[in-house]
Amino acid sequence: MTSVVERLQGDGPVFSIEFFPPRDAADEAVLWKSIRELEPLDPAYMSITYGAGGSSRDGTIRSIARVATETTLVPMAHLTAVNHSVAELRNVIGWYAAVGVRNILALRGDPPGDVYGDWVPHPDGLNYAEELVELVRSLGDFCVGVSAFPYGHPRSANLEADTEYLVRKLRAGADFAIAQLFFEPEDFLRLRDRVAATGCEALVIPGIMPLTTLRTLHTSIKLSGAPAPRRLLDRLEPLADDPKSFRAAGIDAVTELCERLIAEGVPDLHFYTFNRSKATREVVSRLGLVPARA
Ligand code: FAD
Repeated sequence: MTSVVERLQGDGPVFSIEFFPPRDAADEAVLWKSIRELEPLDPAYMSITYGAGGSSRDGTIRSIARVATETTLVPMAHLTAVNHSVAELRNVIGWYAAVGVRNILALRGDPPGDVYGDWVPHPDGLNYAEELVELVRSLGDFCVGVSAFPYGHPRSANLEADTEYLVRKLRAGADFAIAQLFFEPEDFLRLRDRVAATGCEALVIPGIMPLTTLRTLHTSIKLSGAPAPRRLLDRLEPLADDPKSFRAAGIDAVTELCERLIAEGVPDLHFYTFNRSKATREVVSRLGLVPARA
């Protein structure tokens, strides 16, 4: 099975896509429609997030197995340490391997219910993503990714500490990091510079969300942990009552962001698709990232 790093070794920039596990049959139909619409565009890899509990976690495992066996896509499964013992984590990793998934995004996860609540480790579990990277590495020939935060993780004391812990988990055996959402290219580039300044050469990949509605804009701002992105808000909020114009301007803004990142030499643009394909297809087509045969 091809690794994510192998898929990023070509000349030009590529794109990759992220989904979340379906909650019911209707969700599943939407997810698979999107997967099938994006598959011919040959994304470098696709990933499925890992939820906070039982049925959602089963959904990740079921969906990623289906991607591995029924599609041409390179699958990457997310895995979080929250509420898992080490024995359970070993089981999930073994299961991923058994269905042919060799790429894992190793995360700590958040306490259920309150993202900013106190972190309580499982009594037989792990404390930080760094330990999960080590565990995954110790269990086989996996390609491992981690998360990164352009504005710093909400629980980090400052950007210096944030960078130190990011680099620690990269040095623990991760091959690359995928960044949380951001709004100005410089915000991502500064993160990349902070990592490079430590001498760490791991790839840092920008996370991109196509902005199609006021809701996606506000969700992006919340997820990013960024201070209000004034320039973008001034550009898009006046269009809030005109969904068509908002969508067109949102796609323009995201395309411009991606163009700047490509000019700065990013190897991959990782799209948070929210299980829909249309906006991502539009942006990658405008960027010319779609292979000729598609
Ligand atoms: P860590 O790297 O462990 O960091 C957590 C905090 O601890 C940070 O503040 C860090 O600076 C600090 N820290 C790290 N190591 C140490 C140390 N040794 N000593 C002291 N402090 C330390 N969540 C999900 O539930 N499911 C998903 O599928 C998912 N996918 C994601 C994908 C991406 C690309 C991103 C950016 C985030 C994703 N998340 C997901 C969210 C993520 O789980 C949360 O942001 C979580 O709060 C942090 O996880 P982490 O792996 O970054 O933690």
